[in-house]
Amino acid sequence: MSRDSRYDILFEPVKIGPVTARNRFYQVPHCNGMGHLHPSSTAAMRRTKAEGGWAVVCTEECEIHFKSDVSPHAEERLWDDSDIPHLKRMTDAVHEHGSLAGVELVFQGHETTNLYSREVPMGVSDLIGSAYHPVQAYAMDKSDIRDVRRWHREAAIRAKQAGFDIVYAYAGHNLSLPMHFLSRRFNERTDEYGGSLENRVRFFREIIEDTKEAVGDTCAVAVRLAVDELLGADGITAQEEGREIVEMLAELPDLWDVNISDWSNDSETSRFGEEGAQEKYVGFVKSLTTKPVVGVGRFTSPDAMVSQVKRGVLDMIGAARPSIADPFLPYKIEHGNVDDIRECIGCNICVSGDNTISPIRCTQNPTMGEEWRRGWHPEIIPEKKSNSRILVVGSGPAGLECTRSLGNRGYEVVLAEAGTELGGRVARESRLPGLAAWGRVRDYRVGQINTMTNVEVYLDSKLDAAHVKEFGADHVVLATGASWRRNGMGRANCKAIPGNDSANVYTPDDIINGVDVKGPVIIFDDDHFYMGGVIAELIRSRGHEVLLVTPAADVSTWTHHTLEQARIQKRLMQMGIDIVPTQNLAAIHSDHVDLKCVYTDRITKREANSIVLITMRLPNDELYRSLMDNLPVTRIGDALAPATIAHAVYAGHRYARELDEPECDGVPFKRELAMLGEF
Ligand code: ADP
Ligand code: SF4
Repeated sequence: MSRDSRYDILFEPVKIGPVTARNRFYQVPHCNGMGHLHPSSTAAMRRTKAEGGWAVVCTEECEIHFKSDVSPHAEERLWDDSDIPHLKRMTDAVHEHGSLAGVELVFQGHETTNLYSREVPMGVSDLIGSAYHPVQAYAMDKSDIRDVRRWHREAAIRAKQAGFDIVYAYAGHNLSLPMHFLSRRFNERTDEYGGSLENRVRFFREIIEDTKEAVGDTCAVAVRLAVDELLGADGITAQEEGREIVEMLAELPDLWDVNISDWSNDSETSRFGEEGAQEKYVGFVKSLTTKPVVGVGRFTSPDAMVSQVKRGVLDMIGAARPSIADPFLPYKIEHGNVDDIRECIGCNICVSGDNTISPIRCTQNPTMGEEWRRGWHPEIIPEKKSNSRILVVGSGPAGLECTRSLGNRGYEVVLAEAGTELGGRVARESRLPGLAAWGRVRDYRVGQINTMTNVEVYLDSKLDAAHVKEFGADHVVLATGASWRRNGMGRANCKAIPGNDSANVYTPDDIINGVDVKGPVIIFDDDHFYMGGVIAELIRSRGHEVLLVTPAADVSTWTHHTLEQARIQKRLMQMGIDIVPTQNLAAIHSDHVDLKCVYTDRITKREANSIVLITMRLPNDELYRSLMDNLPVTRIGDALAPATIAHAVYAGHRYARELDEPECDGVPFKRELAMLGEF
């Protein structure tokens, strides 16, 4: 198909200093939990982005020196020449597809951990990092400043040798030394690097100038700057110092990559922010510089992108998450396949990879991080190897993705769903407060399945064992999901909670299915992801008094990994939800509960007319149990072991990929083995 001419503007080349991007799609730096530990995986992932049409593809943070070690996080490294081949693999892969490769050089100042190098961290002033390591940084003296400038320059030269086209001077989040120099909050210096804004800008200016001098003949020098920290007068704001910094440095870099800080603001989830939410902060930058401006905003709509360019907000459409969810987003717009875009749902499961120090996974894109180790491509799947007919039971994320991918391979597939709508938990949960964008998991897959003539879909078709046997499929896939457990067993309780069979006990399934409850309501959250928080919001919005009890120290504690925890806690507190941390639920009575302190076992009573137990789920495996002795059936997703939506999508995809393929009796993916040193 040919593209819609309205989108032509997105495919204009953009000159960035000495290099030219072939279009306006710019994959900004993003971490991925792989970095220098998984160089082949990272290179293949970036290559896929270039293949998918991103004109610029950047690395994540790249440490410039062994004293800038941010372990245990797996970012990139250019400590010395021995790191060059790793990154050359990435730049070669990006160049293969005609794109430019960018590197985000970083020195994190007092946030540097040096856990691996065991060097003493240094920062703009005497400071302590935010990661709770009991280690402080000392205030850099002039010779330290000269050293860091030299290391940055040497890293830039190595970056050029590694083949990079764009080299960053990075002041994007709270995690970079130039940002610490800029910020009154951190910079307590009394020399020419502290005090006035002119002085605080000095170090950043020097880093940009050094980089230009070192590599600016052939490489573009980009800056990444957070123009607003969302801290009001305590931080940099777009109205005052953010604006003044851009004014002071306007024509110095070859490109402005502008955003907001900290990372949780920059990568805000869809539960808390809309597409394009950064415009109100970064919108002023273009009026102050003639250099191209890049910004992000979880952009997935080509109309929104065109609007950004036409209204003079951005020159290039920056994306991290949209490029993860759909590495072929630009290609699809270019070729008129806008309906095929797999839109990011803004859940930040991808971010959790970096925070749990494990390879990135994406809810929408099950091939993310698997490009090299399993050879999975987001848009290509091998053709079927037999004429088998497959029955998929259940249309949640696992069943839908399995059906879509089997359908893509050319198999005859029948999808049977008990309910009257497709989507399973995604359809239901997307109706909960703030989770509407999660419906995209269903929308993308249903959109694709609807175009397939080899796939039949039946709604309102609850299958039992007799139906399945009668159907006579060659393969049966059970993606029948899971239900929330009613007896309170979970992490904190290996035994059922006494009183769990009372009539006033509910699960999230009841609440999602529309059951109303009588207040006051106690929500016992032993799940620790999003469900406790959203159910609390929902019940509170119906006017009930709500108490959220959790054995953890804070609500939704796992969402630290998705950068949402503080926002969730704030929202619940602002809604008047009472939060009771570090308490287990010991017993349920008709009008109250007994809570037990997780440290002292001290029991306290709390009044409640309804109790919602959010602890763990049990697979809906009734159908499996009635079939397993007679038929070869495979359970996938929550029907096997409940987990995230990302896990369910992955399970569906993996089943489809592996059907009729030879079984592997070893490790089913390639590994990046560390090299043995001399002994
Ligand atoms: P997952 O996350 O693993 O995809 P979900 O819970 O989202 O699981 O989806 C499971 C889907 O399976 C639900 O929509 C449910 O209605 C459907 N389902 C469960 N049992 C049957 C059955 N026996 N026949 C048809 N559909 C079923
Ligand atoms: Fe978007 Fe979620 Fe995928 Fe991240 S994991 S790219 S937020 S869909």
